[in-house]
Amino acid sequence: MSDTSEGSTPTPQRNDTLATELIHHPYKPPADFESPAVPVFKGSTVYFPTVAALRERTWADKSGYTYGLHGTPTSFTLESRLASLEGAKHVILAPSGLSALTIVDMALLQQGDAMLLPDNVYNPSKDFARNELARWGISQRLYDPMQPASLAAQLDREVKLVWLEAAGSVTLEFPDLRALVRTVREKAPQAVIALDNTWGAGIAFNAFDLGEGLGVDVTIHALTKYPSGGGDVLMGSIACRDDALNDKLTWTHSRLGIGVGMNDVELVLRALPNLPLRYAAQDASARRIAEWAQAQPQVARVLHPALPGSPGHAHWASHCKAAAGLLTLEINAQYTPAQVDAFVDGLRYFHIGWSWGGPVSLAVPYQAKGMRKLATPYQGTLVRLCIGLEATDDLIADLAQGLARLAETAAPAADPALTATAG
Ligand SMILES: *Cc1c(COP(=O)(O)O)cnc(C)c1O
Repeated sequence: MSDTSEGSTPTPQRNDTLATELIHHPYKPPADFESPAVPVFKGSTVYFPTVAALRERTWADKSGYTYGLHGTPTSFTLESRLASLEGAKHVILAPSGLSALTIVDMALLQQGDAMLLPDNVYNPSKDFARNELARWGISQRLYDPMQPASLAAQLDREVKLVWLEAAGSVTLEFPDLRALVRTVREKAPQAVIALDNTWGAGIAFNAFDLGEGLGVDVTIHALTKYPSGGGDVLMGSIACRDDALNDKLTWTHSRLGIGVGMNDVELVLRALPNLPLRYAAQDASARRIAEWAQAQPQVARVLHPALPGSPGHAHWASHCKAAAGLLTLEINAQYTPAQVDAFVDGLRYFHIGWSWGGPVSLAVPYQAKGMRKLATPYQGTLVRLCIGLEATDDLIADLAQGLARLAETAAPAADPALTATAG
């Protein structure tokens, strides 16, 4: 119904010219504004000067921009810096470390194929295989990463993807990466070798060049951890050197419609220059805490690959220059899970929560029993510690007060001699 009330002239509509003026405004950012920060370029739509340019431009080789989902100058910059970090040629960004893992699986496997995972792999990776890949007729097999013969026994023509992880999740065993890679190359040359490089972060070792002419084909990296460094970003990356492999990964990634937000990319770009400093500081602090913890009577064993006696220490020493700030305390089996939970609850500086690589130290207890499908050489409760950037002495004092309380709660009250040694 038209508005004819009082016969007045209709109010001019705001959209007459304002909308067009607001959009086609003359402002352009200065071309000579140079600063250390990479600008945040956002966009779903990217303009093309002509229809011919729209038809011709390609993005998969990063020679141009076509659509926000395929990247902007901001994400292309992060990808190229991560390629340098990992010693790779190509990098693809994903919205989490887990999605980086699952994209690799989806790009490289089809019905009838088998995928091999180390028994100490990041657990959601097993879960994805068991619940999603299984529905598509792709099988999962587990191997003991500390026994190359266990890997060899699982390799046959069906195996198209072998995952490695160093160090393993929670229990931090460091495998003989060169022996594992050599075994796959000899017995299953058709298989792609992928490594979850979150722990090494591109700093501890070079996954693409492990020495003796050996290297992996693909790495994934949970940028959520060290590269972000703030406990405030979720992102992952997939890196490789081979062009054909990169094409496969790129097209699967693109067809799945997976992109990342440029504000998140900016946060990772901002944190990347101080990654080596943070990694070194957390490494040094974790090693001091590991050595201290090893001498505490409530701790049966400390799992930390740089610590002599920890599983795979010799392999760590032959592959690595550094270690991440992670360690796991195997608490004496005499303490009940509830007592260990209370120990973790009572820590002051260690917060309870997932992830790592941020400024705040974190602790999570795990029951060793049932954690692995293959043999579990651990007893009692494991407490995984992620060392943040606090003063190491404060963290040691915090753990000391926690362990003292643990000893009190568990000490048989009737035996003063035992209480004294446990203190
Ligand atoms: C955290 C983590 C992931 C997953 O990263 P998200 O960004 O949390 O999805 C994968 N692998 C390892 C070893 C991790 O520690």
